[in-house]
Amino acid sequence: MKIALFWHRRDFRQHDNAGLTAALQSGLPVVPLFIYDTDILDYVPRPHDARLTFIYDEVERLARQTEAAGGTFLAYYGKPVEVFRQLLDRYDLGAVFTNEDYEPYATQRDTEVAEVLQARGVPFKAYKDQVIFAKNEVLTKSGTPHKAFGMYRDAWVANLRDEHLRPYPSAELYRAEHLGRLAGAPPRPTLEQMGFERYEQYVPTAEIPAENFVRDYHLTRDRLGLANSSTRRSVHLRFGTLSVRELMRQAHELNPKLLAELIWRDYYMMLMWHFPNTAHESYNPRLRHVAYRNHEAEYQRWCEGQTGYPLVDAGMRELNQTGFLHNRARIAVAGFLNKHLLIDWRLGERYFADKLLDYDLALNVGNWQWVAGTGVVAAPWFRVFSPDSQLKKFDPTLEYVRRWVPEYGTKAYPAPMVEHKFARERAVQVFRQAYQNLPIT
Ligand SMILES: Cc1cc2nc3c(=O)[nH]c(=O)nc-3n(C[C@H](O)[C@H](O)[C@H](O)COP(=O)(O)OP(=O)(O)OC[C@H]3O[C@@H](n4cnc5c(N)ncnc54)[C@H](O)[C@@H]3O)c2cc1C
Repeated sequence: MKIALFWHRRDFRQHDNAGLTAALQSGLPVVPLFIYDTDILDYVPRPHDARLTFIYDEVERLARQTEAAGGTFLAYYGKPVEVFRQLLDRYDLGAVFTNEDYEPYATQRDTEVAEVLQARGVPFKAYKDQVIFAKNEVLTKSGTPHKAFGMYRDAWVANLRDEHLRPYPSAELYRAEHLGRLAGAPPRPTLEQMGFERYEQYVPTAEIPAENFVRDYHLTRDRLGLANSSTRRSVHLRFGTLSVRELMRQAHELNPKLLAELIWRDYYMMLMWHFPNTAHESYNPRLRHVAYRNHEAEYQRWCEGQTGYPLVDAGMRELNQTGFLHNRARIAVAGFLNKHLLIDWRLGERYFADKLLDYDLALNVGNWQWVAGTGVVAAPWFRVFSPDSQLKKFDPTLEYVRRWVPEYGTKAYPAPMVEHKFARERAVQVFRQAYQNLPIT
């Protein structure tokens, strides 16, 4: 039997899925597939990883739903290229469908997989699914990526048509007559077989948020003390358990501020696709050689939430304990590490990558470089926020701080590890030196 494979990567859902819809309409019986990629997992410390536990549960859920609908779901543990070689030897593949992924590693991997498949006459078809506009769809008049978010956002809104937000009918098509059933399919790997143990962290619902919540989003989003001040859907957007079109439709209708935040997401993904080097170096060449101090013991105090700045400490402890961090706290802790401690933004980016459940390379790098002032789009490099002023603004009643730093205000709480005014002047001087010394290349 000739089959089509649908390869899930960051789209763990059967509803409103662009690539899955195309596969189900191809006329070939569809067999969904997930690969636990050892090129990624070999770098994940064992045995506890909350993201892998989340992924595993989602794969198992999709597999159960596929079996209930009358199909087979395949899951493998290995290098994608090698897995596809095995699949080519074992099955008669008519085509492989998937959704696009714009990260540098993913684009490289997909190029290699497409080559292996095409060498055996099997087309590899990737669809836009995780964003509304990708790659070169929203450019300046001269055909270059927008360097200012406001201009990008306006062009994005001007390009938007109803069909961009229309849901795909994949759930309706997910029926036995469109699915492939394979005899003797290999068992799916378990967490234990991959060297992991279950490790769960709280994940909020993947449901679309309530209408009245979305209407008030611009009023609540900056209030750190509120338990649910923002949508908390980032982890679901990261793994595609929620369709971005669904959330965009709602935001488009009810709240322009939320829509703008979601457009930031498209923007950073577009920028990462255009400038993959920014995953590991500052976009601004003048700021690639800042004389960072990278003081190990100070970095450690930041990681542990022992800086003596309550907003920073609350943020780091929330991150360490829950795998989530409010946007305002992300900005505060990132600014403190980079400017007050003069530690390379890449060390902070790595730390977030290890801890955040919603970790997304494009969004994380984009935001870290924004805070550091080194990115395509960036806060001015000489702007150094005061963590205490930020605290007064976003947590005036200290609700957030008291939740995460119960010893705040007692003798047990450390004094600030560096004085703000001194740190600001030092940071501006060091950044200015880097900025002035190097010519633009
Ligand atoms: C230093 C730093 C690192 C970050 N790293 C990540 C990351 O790894 N993964 C991640 O998903 N977000 C990251 N963000 C962006 C933002 O903080 C989170 O998306 C947001 O806090 C998630 O909570 P929420 O879903 O309640 O957001 P909401 O305020 O409800 O926003 C809705 C959605 O809009 C998008 N969004 C919101 N703010 C931003 C933003 N500044 N940039 C891009 N998209 C945005 C997200 O997809 C978010 O889920 C980072 C921000 C900073 C300052």
